[in-house]
Amino acid sequence: MTRMAEGLLAAHLAGKGWSFGFDRAVRRAGACHHAERRITLSRHLAARADEDEVRQVLLHEVAHALAGHRAAHGPRWRARAEAIGYTGSRLHDHPIAEDRATWIGSCPAGHEHRRFRRPSREVSCGLCSRRFSRASLITWRSAESSRG
Ligand SMILES: [Zn+2]
Ligand SMILES: [Zn+2]
Repeated sequence: MTRMAEGLLAAHLAGKGWSFGFDRAVRRAGACHHAERRITLSRHLAARADEDEVRQVLLHEVAHALAGHRAAHGPRWRARAEAIGYTGSRLHDHPIAEDRATWIGSCPAGHEHRRFRRPSREVSCGLCSRRFSRASLITWRSAESSRG
């Protein structure tokens, strides 16, 4: 399994700094950790699924890596996934997703910012204003519900 996974990463994500590993997830098959550039596969899945199923799970996650975090399961992700051979197996849905960037903020102009913790003070957008500006306050939301 590891060899196949590493082969897929080499084929589609070569030179982009992505790595592969296993995780202990029970409720989802795979995950794409954008902040860490890491694709993981459930050990539980690897132990019971056949190679074609595992390949599909990996392609699903590789497509997330290619499409970017914000694409979620939208058309951009779908196009990438189909281009690399993802057909949509029964393992398509993975309800949980971990992304270590827990908080996503956006300013009124739409610039996106990420933090591992919710900032304790008000933060204004450094792209909009070099000094603190109430007009450019960033509002934060938890990214815990984002897809992996
Ligand atoms: Zn801004
Ligand atoms: Zn997904």
